[in-house]
Amino acid sequence: MTPISHLYLHVPFCPTICPYCDFHVVRRQAGWVEAYLKRLLEEAGQLAGLWPLELETIYLGGGTPSFLRDRELAALVEGLRAAVGWAGEVTLEVNPGTVSRARAELWRELGFTRASLGIQSLDDQVLRFLGRTHSSRAAREAASYLRQAGLRLSADLITAVPSQRLEREVASYLELDLEHLSAYSLTVEEGTEFARRGVEVAEEDEREAFYRTEELLAEGGLLRYEISNYARPGAESRHNLGYWTNAFYAALGPSAAGHYPSERPGELAQRRTAATLEGWLRGEGGEVLPVSPAQYASDAAFMGLRLERGIDLRALGGRTGLDLLGSWPQLLRRPLEGGLLELQGGQLRATRDGWWVLNQLVTPLVEWSAG
Ligand code: SF4
Repeated sequence: MTPISHLYLHVPFCPTICPYCDFHVVRRQAGWVEAYLKRLLEEAGQLAGLWPLELETIYLGGGTPSFLRDRELAALVEGLRAAVGWAGEVTLEVNPGTVSRARAELWRELGFTRASLGIQSLDDQVLRFLGRTHSSRAAREAASYLRQAGLRLSADLITAVPSQRLEREVASYLELDLEHLSAYSLTVEEGTEFARRGVEVAEEDEREAFYRTEELLAEGGLLRYEISNYARPGAESRHNLGYWTNAFYAALGPSAAGHYPSERPGELAQRRTAATLEGWLRGEGGEVLPVSPAQYASDAAFMGLRLERGIDLRALGGRTGLDLLGSWPQLLRRPLEGGLLELQGGQLRATRDGWWVLNQLVTPLVEWSAG
């Protein structure tokens, strides 16, 4: 069986809940973190018994993993090392309000190699609008402590926020000397505080920010390699590349979703989701969804076309046993003729114009895989 090379851990605790957030997050409550850590390490032990693991990357996301206290994070790392080992790239998602020089050094000593700093903006007015509790000064300080501790640094940026000045915003980010950046336009998801308040983002503003951000970051040496992600050459996130190349990854923690190999007849993989925190703490499982070879291929296209380099249809055809080079050009004839997709030497990729409408482009493949 193909070994699993990536591991995601969901840490659901946050100091406050942001008004646009639609992740599974909770505020810290007495006894929950202890119960969470106990259950998480039990799960890690079971994981190693069930699947072959050859971990290249581990990612602690959330929520706010850096909101865990030092002794809690140290216990998590120690338990994880004992249960599943460690990896070459280990990322900790960090909230600026939780960083100090000493903590950044501790995270490096614990074995983290990379920090993903959740700053969203370096403009105090935008931060207030987003309901963030940190200031741009705290974000700059946090970035500097993390770099000085020797952690590789990624940060995130929210664009298309009303009143945001993009040129100034990107210039401030470039001063942080990042090697990686994730940029997303503000989206107002149903059920969030922003949706209740009636916040809206005009599509034209979103589109303009999408293309302008790329130009501005490229001038500073951060190149777009995925729809929402930029890196200095060679500093791409290996963990996220695992998702975009449809690799197998395990997931631990409440509401975490994993992608596992399967050797059952008619299946190439299984997607498994976990229950939300209270159910997960009681040991409840989530859903197990079988993935057929055709679904695997369409998932790979859905994720892989987000990448600048696109997907190799020959390799994907070999993995799934399907003649994709024979059947997909016909299914994708209109976007290929319309200049939204390109197919060269078996490599299928979206063009700049195609990225903006990618979900529509892959619809025929999703329908094909369901039929
Ligand atoms: S810090 Fe991140 S995960 Fe936590 S509530 Fe805010 S957006 Fe959601």
